[in-house]
Amino acid sequence: MKILDAELIASAPNIGMLPESGLPEVAFLGRSNVGKSSLLNGLTRRKKLARTSSTPGKTRDLVLFKVRTDWGEIGLVDLPGYGWAKVSRSERAGWQRMAEDYLARREALCLAFVLQDVRRNWSEDESLLLEWLAEQDVPGRVVITKTDKLKLMKRKEAVKRLRKEIGDGFGKPIVTSSEKGDGLDVVWKTCFENAYPQRLKKTNAASAETHEPLSAPWPEDD
Ligand code: GDP
Repeated sequence: MKILDAELIASAPNIGMLPESGLPEVAFLGRSNVGKSSLLNGLTRRKKLARTSSTPGKTRDLVLFKVRTDWGEIGLVDLPGYGWAKVSRSERAGWQRMAEDYLARREALCLAFVLQDVRRNWSEDESLLLEWLAEQDVPGRVVITKTDKLKLMKRKEAVKRLRKEIGDGFGKPIVTSSEKGDGLDVVWKTCFENAYPQRLKKTNAASAETHEPLSAPWPEDD
């Protein structure tokens, strides 16, 4: 897949101030430092599109990017990281309200990724988040990040353990390394499957008429 263009559309402190992108949107959620900005930069192949934790002035806004690819256009939304040890209870409540408003009310939202660092344990917070997303009819999918941080055997063990902890209810977690670019194709494919499901149906209907094997306009998962 080719990235033709990626641009920041808006950064807003609440959903009321976030303009409509006119595109299907995919949200990225995760604790601070989980590798969310790096994943967004890796996906868009831009070094500094999303501000990483080390960038001064990283905001706790909702940040909307528009990405043009040869598979179509899509909106990516960076929701502020949660679970900071140092923020006050009221700040945390503010984050929750902002993120929940976006996740529950944004018509354009078609998928939310919940990010999980491969070196950390799965927690109750993330399980509750996935369950809450399901209640809002928002498909949720886990992305395991930073897998290059572990050697092969440790990585396999960690992924297996996380899969077990996450359970079967939310699809197979996607295993990624933004540093190495691993798994980013699967993340993109999942974005487009959710953003343009009708395209998948149309392709399959056309295949049925011509008796061709079913295929998606994007590469199949292995
Ligand atoms: P955010 O707070 O969730 O946006 O996290 P960042 O993207 O800023 O990443 C936090 C830290 O983890 C930074 O020092 C990144 O360089 C590092 N990091 C993020 N993704 C990866 C990865 O795939 N591999 C490695 N080795 N480090 C990563």
